[in-house]
Amino acid sequence: MIKIGSNEVYRIKEGRNGIFFQKGGFGVKQMYKNYGSMKKRHVNFYPVMIIFGQKDLMKYVGAHVSASGGVENAPGNAHEIGAKAFALFTKNQRQWFSSPLTESNIKLFKENCVKYGYDAAYILPHDSYLINLGNPSEGPLDQSRKAFFDEMKRCELLGLELLNFHPGGHLKQISEEDCMKLIAESINMGLAKTKGVTAVIENTAGQGSWIGYKFEHLRYIIDLVEDKTRVGVCLDTCHTFTAGYDLKSESGYEKAMKEFENVVGIKYLKGLHLNDSKKELGSRVDRHENLGKGLLGEDLFRRIMNDNRFDNMPLILETPDETLWGKEIKWLYSQVK
Ligand SMILES: [Zn+2]
Ligand SMILES: [Zn+2]
Repeated sequence: MIKIGSNEVYRIKEGRNGIFFQKGGFGVKQMYKNYGSMKKRHVNFYPVMIIFGQKDLMKYVGAHVSASGGVENAPGNAHEIGAKAFALFTKNQRQWFSSPLTESNIKLFKENCVKYGYDAAYILPHDSYLINLGNPSEGPLDQSRKAFFDEMKRCELLGLELLNFHPGGHLKQISEEDCMKLIAESINMGLAKTKGVTAVIENTAGQGSWIGYKFEHLRYIIDLVEDKTRVGVCLDTCHTFTAGYDLKSESGYEKAMKEFENVVGIKYLKGLHLNDSKKELGSRVDRHENLGKGLLGEDLFRRIMNDNRFDNMPLILETPDETLWGKEIKWLYSQVK
């Protein structure tokens, strides 16, 4: 804790893109640069952000925004819809190969994050849909791992701290347990090759042969990860529901959250994907819907916005009609009591 002027107490938070002074842990109001004094101390000089705010800004809501034309465009796209957090693909999510990030991509991305006030703690990049870290065949597993290591490296270069990915599928060729062992091994390899990036496993709907539709799967994988400080979980509300956890009712929600706390542990929760669902409870089908327009309904999202278990982490919309994101973000903040 430090004191700045008028007897106000701030907390210092160090993110990979800068040092943040937080008053009571709240949102961004004003940003200014304080390069000089930092330079003198021969440390990397950081932009300094003074953060004031209200209670609703404990919640960092955003969306998975476009990075088309370059990753450096994502922060501006997030700013345009009033997001306090965002997700992005750091390469084309439907191709194995993308050209490496250039110095200019990296520099501009970091500058834009500072310009629009996004700390790495609230940016949740998502990896390619092609990657299957539990693929039972050696060739395809190797290809997936190489692509995953590249994704981790790209995050590291951009100063990002999290990489969100779907764990993997056994393709009905090996057991779920053997598949989870391959996934954990893949994570361990990825962590060994990079610095400062946490592997964030997303729970799945359990479509096809995909692992991650039970909290126990997440636990099993985490248990096999060597560096527990760099592994975490992202819960997707649509996936959780269609995997069979009844988040719709208040009692079902509390039960699912308790179960999550008991099986996985809230300390591993690094983010949330906010999606309504087109498909029924337990259907094991992954079809996102805009908030309030699907089978989950508005109540769940109101509950989330008032649940401090989701404070200070990226809460990301992946709803299909992106023209509604600005409205959805506003609506979510308006639900905070
Ligand atoms: Zn996902
Ligand atoms: Zn998701």
